[in-house]
Amino acid sequence: MSAAKMKAAVYKKPGLIQIEDRPLPYLQLPTDAIVRVTLATICSSDIHIKHGFVPKAVPDTILGHEFVGVVEQIGSQVKTVRPGDRVAVNVETFCGQCWFCRRGFVNNCSHPDGGWALGCRIDGGQAEYVRIPFADNGLTKIPHEVSDEAALFTGDLLSTGYWAADMAEIKSEDTVAVIGAGPTGLCSMMCAALYQPKRIIAIDTCQERLNLAKRQGLAQTVINPDRENVSQTILNLTKGRGADCVLEVAGKENTFQMAWSIARPNAVVCVVAMYEKDQILPLPQMYGKNLIFKTGGVDACRCAEILQLIQQGRLNTSCLITHRLPFDQIMKGYEIFENKLDGVIKIAVQVS
Ligand SMILES: [Zn+2]
Ligand SMILES: [Zn+2]
Repeated sequence: MSAAKMKAAVYKKPGLIQIEDRPLPYLQLPTDAIVRVTLATICSSDIHIKHGFVPKAVPDTILGHEFVGVVEQIGSQVKTVRPGDRVAVNVETFCGQCWFCRRGFVNNCSHPDGGWALGCRIDGGQAEYVRIPFADNGLTKIPHEVSDEAALFTGDLLSTGYWAADMAEIKSEDTVAVIGAGPTGLCSMMCAALYQPKRIIAIDTCQERLNLAKRQGLAQTVINPDRENVSQTILNLTKGRGADCVLEVAGKENTFQMAWSIARPNAVVCVVAMYEKDQILPLPQMYGKNLIFKTGGVDACRCAEILQLIQQGRLNTSCLITHRLPFDQIMKGYEIFENKLDGVIKIAVQVS
């Protein structure tokens, strides 16, 4: 074997990410594939890793769990993709056979490489090449008509929004409140819209992001908690009942409390957010409200459905890409994304 090297963005220790030369990945198991990364992006979970808030993140791991590419090599047991196929990559790797996988709960796959491992515990896709374990489960062919940019968020952001909207049990007469109008919140609104609810309300303290949600038609009503009383506005809009479904995507200091406060009795409250601190569930205060809480991390196993919706024009994330950078400027991308500079929503990083 040649000693060929590739460039990769590596998590070194809390507070430090750097570009390094790394050896090319190789097939380790017959279920693996090697993917040449074409387009990648930086996710807020990468920033959580950098800040040391992801305990399972392993130093010296190549970051990146949201990317698309071209299959370069496949192991002998890989059946669903061939070299040359353009593929969307799933944020989670999963065996497909364990108790959890058989029930679609792939986030809790009990295999050692199962769950969110890519770009966290095993080398990810902010690099020229990446090894994908369980390639039959982790890779989905991108239809010809769908561009790399259009498919970029399939495996993570859109999977999360799709999963959240599904959990929320949205019905056609419902008012859906989405707390957080960042990338995940905007994708959650797009996916909630697939259920054609009566109204989607976007809540965020960033007016720029609310304006985007409104302009793109992702929310019919926007509320900025710094400017108006969120509960009162929602009560006014819902004949005094409250929101039928609440998606809490923000994960800020007071947003969990907001989520259950704005929900009507018997509503579904979905907590998608990743908090940095414990939250309080004040049961005496909400006694009799009979809420249904659903929480967790995405079970990302519906990429084929999502790509089909993109192909049909029913999901379109083009408004999320505010910045495009070549891979050698990825550290600049991290700075922009981490500090929310320059109106950034998402950065598309051209790798090859
Ligand atoms: Zn992510
Ligand atoms: Zn499994």
